[in-house]
Amino acid sequence: MLDTSIDYLKGVGPIKADILKKELSIFTYGQLLSYYPFRYIDRTKFHKISEIQDDSDYVQIRGILRRIESHGEGHKKRLVGTFRDESGVMELVWFKGLNWIQNLPTGAEYIIFGKPTVFNGKANIVHPEIELISSLNTELQAVLEPVYSTTEKLNAKNLKSKDIGKIIKSVLLKIEESKTVIEDNLPKYILDEFKFFSRNETLRFIHFPQNQEQLKAARNRLKFEELFFLQLKMLQLKANRKLAYRGFVFASIGDFFNNFYNNNLKFGLTNAQKRVIKEIRKDLGNGMQMNRLLQGDVGSGKTVVAFMTMLMALDNGYQASLMAPTEILAQQHFKSLQEMGEGLGITMELLTGNVKGAKRKAILKQLEEGIINIVIGTHALIEDSVVFKKLGVTIIDEQHRFGVMQRAKMWRKTDLCPPHILVMTATPIPRTLAMTVYGDLDVSVIDEMPPGRLPIKTFHKYESQRLWTFGRMKEEIAKGHQVYIVYPLIEESESEMMAEIKDLMQGYDIISHEFPKPDFQISVVHGKQKPDDKEYEMQRFIRGETQIMMATTVIEVGVNVPNATIMIIENAERFGLAQLHQLRGRVGRGGGDAYCILMTGFKLSEEGRFRMQTMCETTDGFKISEADLKLRGPGNIDGTQQSGIIGLQIADIIKDTNILQAARQIAQRIIDEDPKLEKEENISLKKYILTLQNKQTFNKIS
Ligand code: ADP
Ligand code: MG
Repeated sequence: MLDTSIDYLKGVGPIKADILKKELSIFTYGQLLSYYPFRYIDRTKFHKISEIQDDSDYVQIRGILRRIESHGEGHKKRLVGTFRDESGVMELVWFKGLNWIQNLPTGAEYIIFGKPTVFNGKANIVHPEIELISSLNTELQAVLEPVYSTTEKLNAKNLKSKDIGKIIKSVLLKIEESKTVIEDNLPKYILDEFKFFSRNETLRFIHFPQNQEQLKAARNRLKFEELFFLQLKMLQLKANRKLAYRGFVFASIGDFFNNFYNNNLKFGLTNAQKRVIKEIRKDLGNGMQMNRLLQGDVGSGKTVVAFMTMLMALDNGYQASLMAPTEILAQQHFKSLQEMGEGLGITMELLTGNVKGAKRKAILKQLEEGIINIVIGTHALIEDSVVFKKLGVTIIDEQHRFGVMQRAKMWRKTDLCPPHILVMTATPIPRTLAMTVYGDLDVSVIDEMPPGRLPIKTFHKYESQRLWTFGRMKEEIAKGHQVYIVYPLIEESESEMMAEIKDLMQGYDIISHEFPKPDFQISVVHGKQKPDDKEYEMQRFIRGETQIMMATTVIEVGVNVPNATIMIIENAERFGLAQLHQLRGRVGRGGGDAYCILMTGFKLSEEGRFRMQTMCETTDGFKISEADLKLRGPGNIDGTQQSGIIGLQIADIIKDTNILQAARQIAQRIIDEDPKLEKEENISLKKYILTLQNKQTFNKIS
């Protein structure tokens, strides 16, 4: 029944069917029933005329139509009805359908419905719905009326919300009359556990609830379904992958690892780092492929964890690779890994788009021959020309810029098994979201900062308080510390970049006037410089020859200068929380006091103000990402694009966390007991997942 084409539905016809297909991708009864209302009008509730305010939403009023008068001439002609209830009087206005309106009996009782406005202190509704009480179908009265979203094209072809409601009602009637039982997609034990309505009832109540309780229960079940199947699918993917792919077994810890730990490691690992390394060690020894996400705030010390993971591969005769999203970040990693690995006898190379010609050829050859132990690079690493002798582990930094597809591509770099994969991200993702976005990965979290880090004191200052900012800069510079001033990048478009460099140059004039040579030296770095010039300027700052680094966001992923203690972010209101947080993480690495100053104009949007406030209140990356999620919704958080949650129709990842957790828990239980969904009681699940395969949402994550 649910697969029946809407072409055969009475009251639809070929033209409407065509529009429904084109505009809403509705082809079948089932899809029609899955087109849920986005809100409901409470028809049980009546308003009083005296309650109407200018910003009132739709109102329903019961009253008496006193008289109807004609105003204006020609195309300005309109009818104005005087409508009264016990609380007051209002006007009803019509520009169209005048003949029908003119004949409405006056002095009778009506129910009207519409969106009011207040003009000159008097409420009016243009083109209200109006129904004579005596003619009202009483059954229709006391319900929540569904409202469906429509498009202009739908409206033009008489497929307004009400029409869609009628069509859906006729499908439900057909199902009822033919006594068709809609097969449930949830097994009985879940229905019992959560006391859900049957699918049949749920579909009826989501469209035509008799009361709020019914609506709520129907909604909850549909939200659960949506989140549950998403989780089930991801967990199944993960379980099947574990069954299907063996992983290299790194049985022993050897000299590379031990020598590093005993001789090169300059600090004690935090407990969080130790815990994560143990988790990884376990993955690498159990014969299954590791697919792990390592989350840790900026500066939490992910690099050393990555390096020790690579050393485990090397100790067992395998190669390792590290892939970064940008050239600068790859270079930075290359440098710090070289330092960490000094004297250990590791052959390490950098492979990015800029490595060309003979050098590139040599690296490719040595990778294939297994002479290079560790290669660090950018996207260039996933090119087909890059062949490894024995790639054991791949580290991917900053997951949000790589898609699932690219992760998969690394797998094909070895013949026997796919390499172990560790994905690192500094974008803290709220737990609820991580569950969904990275549902197919195991997750480790470094939730502890290296000792001695003080929270960065953050201030929000207006342009008019710039002298205060200068004062702070001078104080810190007098102590021998250094300052960043950043003009962050919004988009990497050419025009944006030029505008930003202009801002930067204007800023330079002001700063160099306030901080003149020879007492003060300033580095300037931006995206239009030649790599050599950029490098030169950065090196001067790193060596402490310049006190001030003025830059566009190239430093976001760039230099690590523990002596820098102030981060000044210009035009801070233009930037998202995640980016502000990342930038702030560039200071405070030296152990002493550090400051972040957010400079904005005086005029701020409410949202902009909230962002500044959040930054001033907390330095906890997870709290900041929760706030970000609330502001922007899950669709805009890095990493969510391929997750499938964008396609959620009824569940809300922020508000429905309880349902999400319940769904996740039971999905996990089912997959643990029955990873292939072969048990009798889970057949309905397997069937339903198959029907969902066609849906875009699910294709994205498979
Ligand atoms: P991120 O997680 O942002 O990649 P890094 O790995 O770059 O952080 O580490 C930030 C800084 O902290 C580096 O200078 C690193 O040497 C240092 N660091 C890492 N772990 C510790 C630790 N356990 N104790 C002290 N310093 C540490
Ligand atoms: Mg890092």
